[in-house]
Amino acid sequence: MKNVKVEVSNRHIHLTEDVYKKLFAHPLTKRNDLSQIGEFASNETLTIKTPKESILNVRIVGPLRTYNQVELAKSDARKLGLNPPVRRSGNVSESESITLIGEIGSVTLENGCILAERHIHLNPALAKEWNVVDNQIVKVKIKGAKSCLLDAKIKVSENGTLAFHIDIDDANAALLNTGDEVEVLL
Ligand SMILES: [Zn+2]
Repeated sequence: MKNVKVEVSNRHIHLTEDVYKKLFAHPLTKRNDLSQIGEFASNETLTIKTPKESILNVRIVGPLRTYNQVELAKSDARKLGLNPPVRRSGNVSESESITLIGEIGSVTLENGCILAERHIHLNPALAKEWNVVDNQIVKVKIKGAKSCLLDAKIKVSENGTLAFHIDIDDANAALLNTGDEVEVLL
């Protein structure tokens, strides 16, 4: 049995230092650490805006990165009138455009808005033990009143901490909460 803890991701934003500096006059500040080593939820939030609608208080996840990315759930995207592709984090080519509004300015990203694919973080040692490779699709079994099998991609990184990451829409559909355990079928 390969049990994995669920972590539900709400909508969030990754930014480059360059874009961050156009939105805030002070450095990014940490609110709390996340399970993946080095990653944190910041105190800073942005408004995200399209011609159709806005969503307030969307949190920035640090540290600052080499790309700009807004990760939404499908229900957020519908509200905003967007149709973002499902992508691995960091792959934002030909994704949706969105405007970010911060404390001191606004920036429109030509690309950057995605729906994150479901993924399981692990480190190379555990990947070897499980006999899985980066980007491999595995089945995740979810129990309960809305039991189902979901596909998830394996995401191997040096600092990977075992966790199943899904967005709020997927979590709600399967009645999952952060901290629940699911079983990976291999
Ligand atoms: Zn993740």
